[in-house]
Amino acid sequence: MNCIMNKNLIFMNIINRKTNTKILYQDNFITAFHDINKKAPVHILIVTNKLITSLNNVNDSDTILLGKLLIVATKMAKKYHIDKNGYRLIINCNSHGGQEINHLHVHLLGGKPLGNIISES
Ligand code: AMP
Repeated sequence: MNCIMNKNLIFMNIINRKTNTKILYQDNFITAFHDINKKAPVHILIVTNKLITSLNNVNDSDTILLGKLLIVATKMAKKYHIDKNGYRLIINCNSHGGQEINHLHVHLLGGKPLGNIISES
């Protein structure tokens, strides 16, 4: 139980600067930092400061927040110079979606050809 709780608090602790994770971007709504287990040369997590446990738990009042999440992702893509060659954004939702941390986040991946997972599957 404690383990599950702590795992899901990891991002909250990062947002609140209770860890030594390097913050790449932060405003009142969104925080971005490098994924600890990167799957591409650039792998950044963009997270909501507010705890939303999954994409299933957003509602109409989160419309602006979700827009901000995507806008920050595009800003990070530019900052890390992967915008021109391209990149991928991923949001995993629940177990079949591969979600490990129950705190809404977008993965920004780039810096190498990522293939097309839709046409390959
Ligand atoms: P997801 O599977 O979509 O929930 O993604 C969770 C991501 O969080 C994984 O890619 C992990 O590598 C990443 N992660 C877990 N703990 C940390 C941490 N302390 N700092 C940065 N990234 C982390």
